Amino acid sequence: MSTVVIDGKALAADVKSRIAVRIAEKNHKPHLAVILVGDDEASLVYDRSKQKAAKAVGMECDIFHLEEKTSENGLLALIEHLNQDENIHGILVQLPLPAQINPEKIIGAILPQKDVDGFNPYNAGLLQSGSDKAVVAATPKGILHILHSVYPSLKGMHAVIIGRSNIVGRPLASLLLNHDCTVTVAHSKTANLPELCATADILVAACGCPKLVKRNWVKSGAAVIDVGINRIEGKLCGDVDFEDVCGQAGFITPVPGGVGPMTIAMLLENTYQAYLNQTEHS
Ligand code: NDP
Repeated sequence: MSTVVIDGKALAADVKSRIAVRIAEKNHKPHLAVILVGDDEASLVYDRSKQKAAKAVGMECDIFHLEEKTSENGLLALIEHLNQDENIHGILVQLPLPAQINPEKIIGAILPQKDVDGFNPYNAGLLQSGSDKAVVAATPKGILHILHSVYPSLKGMHAVIIGRSNIVGRPLASLLLNHDCTVTVAHSKTANLPELCATADILVAACGCPKLVKRNWVKSGAAVIDVGINRIEGKLCGDVDFEDVCGQAGFITPVPGGVGPMTIAMLLENTYQAYLNQTEHS
């Protein structure tokens, strides 16, 4: 079987150009605030790439880069200030945070309508209860977009998700359930993982284990979505053994160039939507 490699970069470029056209028609621009605490190099690179992407579609984007020793109260005060600032439409806090700061408290302090990461318990709860009013976390939202690029309807499909984190596995399970998939969530204690995965029409690997998913884990013709970002000897790879699985899967996302670019595009979409919600009803 020939496997179609899904071009996440092209899908993301399409989303971003549509956002850029809509922003160009507005006088007042969407404004995103990105908060980074500490000097983690990877986080800084990632935040700068978000800022570059936001500016490229015509948004304003500020990075608030705070010292590693910033207190929880200091960070809460900044969030409160940004919550009150009507020129700021989206707020995201780069995780992980230093040990002295409780991430749950911080994420819970962001106003739900400015929570463009969709990690606030209010938005997570709306998604879980099947509401279409939730701000959906960018990575799951990007995965849904990718799946819809190859399947108009996901009704009745069996999705197996490897990973149950709050930023990928769990929100994706709710999202796919809301789109009428039958969803199985696997994790590090799941028994017979390869056999379980081989029953999936849609197999999503989000576990952070380089090249874990092999050919015999994949049902013939299945869609394989690789979320993992790992490095082997400096080279990027996903949670799927791409070469091994090609020829077995119907569709596959590459790493890099699959889910990653879609995550940033969906963050911009969430920011644009937050801006519309805050400006059109005021
Ligand atoms: P976490 O470490 O928070 O969660 C990993 C999950 O995978 C856990 O639920 C864990 O199970 C499960 N797991 C770990 N090892 C195994 C195994 N051998 N078999 C089955 N399940 C396993 O990771 P994240 O969800 O934050 O990220 C997952 C991957 O996705 C990482 O590589 C990350 O870099 C990448 N990522 C990529 C993004 C993108 O935009 N492309 C965005 C976000 C993440 P348990 O709960 O039992 O510990």
